[in-house]
Amino acid sequence: MLNDYTMEMIEGKVCPYCRCETKKVSSDRIYGKDYFPGKFFLQCPEIKEHYVGIRFDGKSLGSLANKELRELRKVDFNTFAVRHYAQDIKHQKITSL
Ligand SMILES: [Zn+2]
Repeated sequence: MLNDYTMEMIEGKVCPYCRCETKKVSSDRIYGKDYFPGKFFLQCPEIKEHYVGIRFDGKSLGSLANKELRELRKVDFNTFAVRHYAQDIKHQKITSL
């Protein structure tokens, strides 16, 4: 069973690298300009590169990530998206017969 500290890391409340409490910030704190007005992130106050996005329902997209982990998550997301797209195409062919 996961303890409270682990849950706080998974929910983005604590930075898994620096172990400090995160802050809710707008996209100008991440990108230097507010490219995504109304979109928020949880950011580590120690190292600005540690952050994660917040969904519109207010929950984080997961634990904070550094640059390397973010790249890995993108690759994983793209693989996932391609697989689902392929399944959709297959499904459309079957249902259109
Ligand atoms: Zn950090």
